[in-house]
Amino acid sequence: MKSKPAYHEPPAGSVNMPEKARSLKDRLRQEIETGGPITVAAFMAAALGDPDEGYYRQRQPFGAGGDFVTAPEICQIFGELIGLWTAEVWRAMGAPAAFRLIELGPGRGTLMNDALRALAVVPEVLDAAELHFVETSPRLGAEQRRVLAAGPLRPVWHGKLEDVPAGPAIIIANEFVDAIPVHQFVRRKTGWHERCVGLAAGGGFVFTEREAPLDAPETFIAGELLSAEIGSIVETRPGADQLISEFAARAKMAATAALIIDYGHLSSGTGETLQAIRAHQTADPLDAPGRADLTAHVDFASLARSARKQGLSVFGPISQGQFLLALGLAERCERLLASAAPEQAALLLSGARRLVDPREMGDLFKVLTVTDPARPRPPAFP
Ligand code: SAH
Repeated sequence: MKSKPAYHEPPAGSVNMPEKARSLKDRLRQEIETGGPITVAAFMAAALGDPDEGYYRQRQPFGAGGDFVTAPEICQIFGELIGLWTAEVWRAMGAPAAFRLIELGPGRGTLMNDALRALAVVPEVLDAAELHFVETSPRLGAEQRRVLAAGPLRPVWHGKLEDVPAGPAIIIANEFVDAIPVHQFVRRKTGWHERCVGLAAGGGFVFTEREAPLDAPETFIAGELLSAEIGSIVETRPGADQLISEFAARAKMAATAALIIDYGHLSSGTGETLQAIRAHQTADPLDAPGRADLTAHVDFASLARSARKQGLSVFGPISQGQFLLALGLAERCERLLASAAPEQAALLLSGARRLVDPREMGDLFKVLTVTDPARPRPPAFP
């Protein structure tokens, strides 16, 4: 029998706002007063990841009383199908006796809980799987532990992917990449200028621009966008490229497949997509750092480019609707409906529709898989 990993604790830290002399807002203000405007990426990183007041360190963002809702929270079939997808990918890897099942940013643990329940029909996968969660939020870590307590696997938590031991791995990242900070650049007659956050007369935050243009814009901005119209904004996400490099490093040593699901676009383009979501409404992204979720659309073309450059195989991106329907969402829904009480049936049906309907999440959300070069085409990718 394979030994299961030790039961580690979720990320430690206070889940209550500590008595801080100065709020994040005041600290950012002071930083700008002394050092000048900070980049949009630095503002986003602080708003989401500040150890004391960062959005993901303190908040429970999900559900009706929270700020937003994600696919696994809408319908159990989402996580179940991803569980079955994992089983197929594991088999295609030659069914390694041990592999790491890694989730990046597991939220409330719902996706994995549903995936593991579906995997009960393929117990050999559960026997081989070691569960690893990459999570920075103490609050969500505790929630993940609670949700998975009765499940077949205990996660080991890590602050970053690099800390997960090498070895064959299947990595899942749903709505994780959108929280990685973006830089913004604006094209002016003088060249490309980095967009920053500065201080308004009244003490609030405002967008400004670095006076000096970028020295070598081609090192930051995709070639086809370099000659965009004056006034265009381009977003870049070096942290996502870094994540791809970490996949590539793992893939050099062992079978690796990473499933990335997020909202975003298929081709790189201009336009700013930074947005704040609070209580299911969009809000001013600069208004209350740490109190609203700050995200930006994922540029899937750029992720794919980065992966190819690093020697990984790329499948997709395809739309979430296409992915889930190819995995059998309709059939699974029908099976569940057959034994559901009427009220449950209505919820199930509306949830499943919302995931695949092109007017809801079906088209906006995209799915990309990157693997080591020896992997065959994963299920659902044409
Ligand atoms: N995948 C979940 C949650 C998405 S929200 C779902 O689909 O419901 C983003 C998740 O990523 C949260 O769990 C958040 O705490 C975590 N997160 C955000 N930034 C992170 C970072 N830099 N490192 C690790 N986890 C992070």
